[in-house]
Order: sequence, then structure tokens, then C-alpha cells
Amino acid sequence: MGLESKLINDGFFTTTVDALAAWARESSVWPMPMGISCCAIEMMASGDPKYDISRFGSEVMRFTPRQCDLMIVAGTVTYKMAHVVKKIFDQMPEPKWVIAMGACTSTGGMYRSYNVVQGIDQFLPVDIYAAGCPPRPENLLNALMQIQEKIGKTRVKDFPDLQIVRYDTKQAELSLSKN
Ligand code: SF4
Repeated sequence: MGLESKLINDGFFTTTVDALAAWARESSVWPMPMGISCCAIEMMASGDPKYDISRFGSEVMRFTPRQCDLMIVAGTVTYKMAHVVKKIFDQMPEPKWVIAMGACTSTGGMYRSYNVVQGIDQFLPVDIYAAGCPPRPENLLNALMQIQEKIGKTRVKDFPDLQIVRYDTKQAELSLSKN
């Protein structure tokens, strides 16, 4: 980890809340696997022992959007499916990020067709595009590392609308408040 080596010398270290929050976030990105077609097979392969996505703290692929902060859209998105993708994205809590995995997701790919969305950035705020048809797992992991880098540069004030859960020990009550 590196933390132990710092603590063993001085017994303490100094940091900022911003740095600590960003470090925790970037080291535990939980993906929402939105596997729609063939690219999804490569996304699944990224979790196998050879590629081992857990090295990046992201092996916890949740199948409930409420526990995810990274949507990986992998496959050909039709207009009919786009409503489902958007609805699931909306159910993910803030802050959240999006990887468009593969040519179809990013641009419609070879499907210049009336029923295929020509790029999911038409309805989602895409952070990283992973090129390929399909992208190999290494390419997806590279996209994940870029997302981590992006998250590492965030500050607490970047998310003013985030709600914080506070626990009042005297009243034994939970409450929600803004940053
Ligand atoms: S980019 Fe290629 S592999 Fe991925 S969904 Fe499209 S056709 Fe399939």
C-alpha cells in the first residue's frame, strides 16, 4: 500500500480531506456492468484471473445501480435500449462516471442504422471512450486507470449537491445534509 512504510517511520502523515476522499474514491470504483452485446464478453474477461480487475479495486461489479459509481456501457445501444440505459444511469448515486466501451457504444460502429444510437454521448455524459471492436480487456483496464486519474483530481467542492449522512449519537438519529 505504501501507507505502512510512511507510518513505520514517523507514525503519522498529513493530508487533506480532498486528497483522502479522492484517493478513497479512485481506489474503489464500483462498476455497473451494462453489457448489451459482444463487447460485454471482453468486459467479463477483465474480471478473470489473467486480467484481474480487482488490482484496481473494481472487482465489485454490482447489479444494482444504487451501489455503483461507474457505468461501463459495452455493446450496441439501440434507441429502444437507450431508455433502459438512461434509467439505470439515473438511478446511480452522484458522483458517477461513464466508460463507452467499443466502437458501437462510442459511435454506433458499423451500424449506420435508423435504430442504433450513433454514440451514447447523445444521452450520457461519457468520461472515457475505449476504442476497439471489441476493445481487449487491457484496453478497458486502461480506460479504468484514466477514470481513476480523473477521480484523483476531483475536490470535495466539485460535488456541492452531494448529501452527507450524519449520525447524531445523542439523539440516535440519522440525518442528511449538504457538503
Ligand atoms: S464494437 Fe464490435 S464487439 Fe463491440 S458490440 Fe460492436 S460489433 Fe460487438
